Amino acid sequence: MGADWRALVRNVPDFPVPGIQFKDIAPVLADAGALAAVTGELTDAARAMSPDVVVAIEARGFILGSPLALALGVGFVPVRKPGKLPFTTRSVAYALEYGEAVLHMHTDALTPGARAVIVDDVLATGGTLAATAQLVREAGAIPVGALVALELGALGGRERLPDLPLTSLQGV
Ligand code: 5GP
Repeated sequence: MGADWRALVRNVPDFPVPGIQFKDIAPVLADAGALAAVTGELTDAARAMSPDVVVAIEARGFILGSPLALALGVGFVPVRKPGKLPFTTRSVAYALEYGEAVLHMHTDALTPGARAVIVDDVLATGGTLAATAQLVREAGAIPVGALVALELGALGGRERLPDLPLTSLQGV
């Protein structure tokens, strides 16, 4: 059996700005058993959504989403911060828990009608997943669900995603 990955999530006060309690999954990633356990749980949840493709969000979403795509035998599409993707992109700007952000996706990344499952490490206010779902829809694909390891329930992110079935492995 895999290690208890939930016990390895670390709370870092005042990161990246004062007043934010940051949930750090680096200790989970560094532990072989915990890494296998969390990616295994995400894979099981994703399989139930019968996706054609995994769409993952820079940067920790990449770490969790890539093994999931391999396990399911589907492709991987990165959603990235500005200035990172080399080809033509579409973009969405949105408000973050601490500041503002813009996300980009390559214009040819998704096949219209493809069933996309969106993967990230943490749900906070929900802006990041909502923006990514918008990018998926603008590409003509279908966001069939979103997966996160951790859900910061007090921030109400789930309520910002009424049209996106959300699975979180752990509420914090
Ligand atoms: P949201 O858009 O839901 O407010 O913020 C979620 C995004 O910010 C995710 O991409 C996530 O990686 C990052 N994020 C926000 N708060 C935390 C946190 O406490 N821990 C981690 N690991 N990521 C966070």
